[in-house]
Amino acid sequence: MHTHARSQALFAAAKTRMPGGVSSPVRAFKAVGGSPVFVTRGAGAWIEDVDGNRYVDYVLSYGPLLVGHAHEEVVAAVQDAAAKGTSFGACNEYESALVDKVRTVMPRIDRLRLVNSGTEAVMSALRLARAFTGRDKIIKCAGNYHGHADCLLVQAGSGVATLGLPNSPGVPNSTVKDTLVVPFNDLSAVETVLYQYAGQIAAMIVEPVAGNMGVIPPVNGYLEGLRRVTKEHDVLLIFDEVMTGFRVHPGGAQSLFGVTPDLTTLGKVIGGGLPIGAYGGRADIMSWVAPEGPVYQAGTLSGNPVAVRAGLATLDLGLNKDMWAGTASQTALLMEELASIATRWSVPMQVNGLGTMFSCFFTDAAVTDWTTASTSDTDLFAKIFNAMLKFGVHLAPSQYEAWFMSTAHDAAAVTHTLHAFDKALKEAVG
Ligand SMILES: *Cc1c(COP(=O)(O)O)cnc(C)c1O
Repeated sequence: MHTHARSQALFAAAKTRMPGGVSSPVRAFKAVGGSPVFVTRGAGAWIEDVDGNRYVDYVLSYGPLLVGHAHEEVVAAVQDAAAKGTSFGACNEYESALVDKVRTVMPRIDRLRLVNSGTEAVMSALRLARAFTGRDKIIKCAGNYHGHADCLLVQAGSGVATLGLPNSPGVPNSTVKDTLVVPFNDLSAVETVLYQYAGQIAAMIVEPVAGNMGVIPPVNGYLEGLRRVTKEHDVLLIFDEVMTGFRVHPGGAQSLFGVTPDLTTLGKVIGGGLPIGAYGGRADIMSWVAPEGPVYQAGTLSGNPVAVRAGLATLDLGLNKDMWAGTASQTALLMEELASIATRWSVPMQVNGLGTMFSCFFTDAAVTDWTTASTSDTDLFAKIFNAMLKFGVHLAPSQYEAWFMSTAHDAAAVTHTLHAFDKALKEAVG
């Protein structure tokens, strides 16, 4: 068995109709070779492709599916919502319920605005930060990804890195001239920039645990240091928790590390697999958002009941303390076992992770930033990726993406994965 004939035919056809045959570039198999699989269905930890192959899935739609594919309670919530009308362009009671749910686990968020994607959340938070401070410049970290808004498409991690685009054509220099890039995990680089551009910087935006150059936790004191130095310079600190929210801790990185940003951006898990995003934070800043304040930001489908209820159901299930802790310990176990298999095959590998997300880098160097992340042997990754696919494990087709776990990744799924990894390493280096 294990043919990809139907997927290949569908991809060949898609390429004649859609740029690169995909709706988002990370899905093409450019970095690993071969042809992407077309998925027909998912259930729990597993997905099935159009050729009938089954895989344990670590993509989980790039993070949102904290409770796995097609969880019956999420499906029921979506069905019930859809049957009553998908969108009204009017208020519904579930919006505040979702905001309340987020605020229970991230209590430092005073006000939250719902939008339709992580990109939109970040774009809006930056507009707000610039308006509130009356300044234009922003600081970002090399290898951090914050969506594809023009001003942030500089040294932007996985998608961009995988395709080898340092930047994108179509992004005017005038748009990125106010974007200052520093290395991740380097506090003194931030301080230097804060002094050099004193009085001109609106905000620093950061993935508090980097997830888009592979997973890289902050070094000791980094986030606390960012909080201190940005405050000293009256610069807003924005945590982009679109990925880390509910994955590194039930209350995100801000709860795990006890560091309070001025603004937070969210997405992925809060929509449970439907399109959503959100930005929020200090009441005095959020009061600048229209209609309360002058900063315009709107959305036809924002807060629609289908996405909101999918998110609510996902958070209700996934943030249950025992469920979440169980998934995190399953993740820790998997990381440990993967590392010992790599040792057995003498493959240099660093496993970085936190909570329910992790990455394997094929390098001797400890991975703490973009420079060290890019020492990973991406040719070896490509071989392992393809072998894993053959042995029934679906990873993201890039070295620089995270592996995500769900509450549905049980012992059977983990055991299947470990067998596959052993066979994959045998094939790659044995
Ligand atoms: C995925 C991601 C985004 C973009 O979210 P979209 O919903 O894809 O627009 C922004 N920031 C981070 C940290 C992300 O991981």
